[in-house]
Amino acid sequence: MSARRDAVGLSDSLSSLPRVRRGAYRGVMHHGIVPPYLLRQLSELDRDDLSAAREAARRALTSPLLRHAPRPTAVPEPPTTPVRPTGPDRTIGDARGTETLPGVTVRAEGDGPTGDVAADEAYDGLGATYALLAEAFDRASIDGAGLPLLATVHYGQQYDNAFWDGEQIVFGDGDGQVFGRFTASLSVIGHELAHGVTQHSADLVYEGQSGALNESVSDVFGALVEQHARGQRADEASWLIGEGLFTDQVEGTALRSMKAPGTAYDDDVLGKDPQPATMDDYVETSDDNGGVHLNSGIPNHAFYLVATALGGHAWDGAGRIWYDALTGELSSTATFAEFAAATARAAGERFGADSAERDAVVEAWSTVGVPIGQTGSVDDTSSA
Ligand SMILES: [Zn+2]
Repeated sequence: MSARRDAVGLSDSLSSLPRVRRGAYRGVMHHGIVPPYLLRQLSELDRDDLSAAREAARRALTSPLLRHAPRPTAVPEPPTTPVRPTGPDRTIGDARGTETLPGVTVRAEGDGPTGDVAADEAYDGLGATYALLAEAFDRASIDGAGLPLLATVHYGQQYDNAFWDGEQIVFGDGDGQVFGRFTASLSVIGHELAHGVTQHSADLVYEGQSGALNESVSDVFGALVEQHARGQRADEASWLIGEGLFTDQVEGTALRSMKAPGTAYDDDVLGKDPQPATMDDYVETSDDNGGVHLNSGIPNHAFYLVATALGGHAWDGAGRIWYDALTGELSSTATFAEFAAATARAAGERFGADSAERDAVVEAWSTVGVPIGQTGSVDDTSSA
């Protein structure tokens, strides 16, 4: 695995990369849970009491893993044959403070707890994600074909992120001043593995609206993994992504809120959560791959509205609809309007054209400013 990474070269910076092409970043694009603008904010801190956080953010921003050049040509996923889920096949590696992947294996499928909190949380989180996919969607692992799940913990020195690298999930320990260990949040583990599900289905291009959808789908499934593991109904859930990541020095509860985007944190060091909840506040930016971690607040909120309108367990109704849309005929460059139409179609096909489920989907997208036409087609006046 590391040889494959080395082969793509370490010298280019992200800013020099050409525009995203379908598949171009596969295996080399890193979907970190902490967006670059937040790391940049921390890296510019001028406070002695937060020097560890500042240095950790600088390291996270300049990590060699983030400086891979894209492969010259698209690399299609090898075709997989769907199988019935029969149980996870997990391996947890320990990088022991290095940036070498996958590290030393410390726990394999069926092994008992190691006593290392991060390793055991990663093992359990991989299991919880597998369980949601299997029990709610009859999907065998992230590729639907029983792909073994690999996670590495204790990556780097006080590393301030968790990411999916196209093949595995990687967790840092956090700087200890702003961020704690990244395995502490089950929604983060589910979020990162869901990037793998997207990679093996709609393969949404990680830029602009399709990139924000890629991020949002990961938040949706991250939230569902947590709710499923806790047995929570939609009205009992926190709808927070990354709850428990911040230390108690931060004024904030999580990285993002699907219930109320823009309210997850408001802190003198981190600033205020910048996520919009509706198209009125859509952010036009070239930063963060065109605001993929910002505008994801809009489809996130649409999902929350559907789930709470339907009640019960979110994976039964809203989750099923989103899953069907993601794994159906969805373009890799889908806009919000195209994805909204896909969810309305999926709701109609699974629950009926006049169902409460389809009504809730249409209503939710309208509320966030992405109206859907009567037939489930894209309303031209709504595309943004
Ligand atoms: Zn992500």
